Amino acid sequence: MRICRFSHDEEVSFGVLDNLDDQGELTDNSIIAILRGHPFGELDPDGRVIAASSVKLLAPILPSKIIGIGKNYADHVVEMNSELPSEPLMFLKPNTSVIGPNEFIVLPQQSSIVHHEAELAVVIGRFCKDVPRERVAEVILGYTCANDVSARDVQQNDGQWARAKGFDTFCPLGPWIETDLDPTNLAISAYIGSQERQSGNTKDLIFSVVDLVSYVSHQMTLLPGDVILTGTPAGVGPIIAGDEIEIAIEGIGSLINTVKDAQ
Ligand code: MG
Repeated sequence: MRICRFSHDEEVSFGVLDNLDDQGELTDNSIIAILRGHPFGELDPDGRVIAASSVKLLAPILPSKIIGIGKNYADHVVEMNSELPSEPLMFLKPNTSVIGPNEFIVLPQQSSIVHHEAELAVVIGRFCKDVPRERVAEVILGYTCANDVSARDVQQNDGQWARAKGFDTFCPLGPWIETDLDPTNLAISAYIGSQERQSGNTKDLIFSVVDLVSYVSHQMTLLPGDVILTGTPAGVGPIIAGDEIEIAIEGIGSLINTVKDAQ
């Protein structure tokens, strides 16, 4: 099932997407069943079904917090001249960094080197704490695409990552949440225009989705809608004004954003 969040007739709602094509892309026949309230627990359709082409898709969730995981693919650790972590390396991105599909990534004046990072995002479905590995599946709502946009020069200068990864627009999410997905063997890519920049697979995660959700939930309570970014494979690189960047994950879809300078 694909859960989206969208605006339509000046109203923002969650809905269930249907009638995508064989590639999982929207078509003129795609429809959305509108939900009452939120997408956690039992879904409550309000009976209205509308054309997907009549809405503007928004970020599929507004999390209370976003937990990033650094250095979680060995090939990326090598390209950063870093060392493999012995346990997951956590950082936080503020929820004010979230944008949706087709919104602008704004390059801040404080940085001259901003990188894309294609990542699988896990969306938490219920209040949870100290989740044992065998119960992780119960607390996951689904998965979406993320771009952990990072100001690399700021990251290096500051020595910690709050500013570098926390600027407004630095967490594109979308285009929707796929709830029926095995996250253990998914191709993940980043493209600028037609040029491939990153090409990895979630089977190469150092710490798996199960590892990460259990680990993070032992450090802090997770709320419905919270997002865990699982790390990025090799191939990170700069983005500049005018670039159109696509994050594509097998079984989910493509998240596309255009880059612009701060005014
Ligand atoms: Mg990252």
